[in-house]
Amino acid sequence: MSAVLRLAAAVAVLNLIPGVTAAGARPIATGDGVAPADDPLTRPMALDMAGEWLAPVPPQRVFGRSYLVGFGGLSVALIDTGAGLILIDAALPQAAPAILANVRKLGFDPKDIKFILSTEPHYDHSGGIPALVRATGAVVVASVQAAEGLRAGRHAASDPQHGYGGAWPAVARVRTVRDGERVTLGRTAITAHATPGHTMGSMSWSWNACEGRKCRQIVFASSLNPVSAPGYRFTAPSSAPILKGFAASYRGMEALKCDILISAHPDNAGSGRYASGPGACRRYVERSRRLLAKRLASERKRP
Ligand SMILES: [Zn+2]
Repeated sequence: MSAVLRLAAAVAVLNLIPGVTAAGARPIATGDGVAPADDPLTRPMALDMAGEWLAPVPPQRVFGRSYLVGFGGLSVALIDTGAGLILIDAALPQAAPAILANVRKLGFDPKDIKFILSTEPHYDHSGGIPALVRATGAVVVASVQAAEGLRAGRHAASDPQHGYGGAWPAVARVRTVRDGERVTLGRTAITAHATPGHTMGSMSWSWNACEGRKCRQIVFASSLNPVSAPGYRFTAPSSAPILKGFAASYRGMEALKCDILISAHPDNAGSGRYASGPGACRRYVERSRRLLAKRLASERKRP
């Protein structure tokens, strides 16, 4: 989630008051029948950031039968397993219709989406999930701790961004997986990697994508941004689990086989929509490590 969140959270709250919509809000076609005039599942939020996050880009093949169906500033991945589709992340609530449209542009039927895997319970990555579940019937999969946030549609108490408050569409049912567990569909297996820190429930996902005999390990990395709501201190004793989480995530991600890196926020992995080549995940870790060290140093200067 971006650092510019106070306004976003305020807009989020505003948007959840019945009958009140933010400027520019209008009914959005879900692509599956007529949407209600004011659809709570796709009601626009985070209007200060939405233009940048949801910058339209065409759907794109990454490798084999793995695609990107998201936006210029938020990643959404689609994997065609041959026995159904898997989506990773869902961007903001209002993004759901565009994600469905991108899936169709690639020639797929959104009804074939069987699973939606979630990287973190923040509205910029999970806000669109309830609308996509409504359109597809997909099963949502997340870590045990992320599932609590997804079901609540709010920041967990342990979340460094808890202080922003706000709420977003909640996910009614979530299947939970633990670190190292796999989600399988057809002959495709996607492995869950716990990557706590940005949130305690953050999960990254990896799978093998093949073109003929050539295969690449793709990693869809959760955000590792060490950001918080105002007043939160990563150096506070109560933040120790978060720091331990970051350290474990760094170790885990550095050890991952990672030929292609898709970052939840693409600009955290470089300039393109994904990064490839040796060291992509290590560079991703390095960026977070550097930002966290800077943050800790600045907190220590202000006791
Ligand atoms: Zn976030």
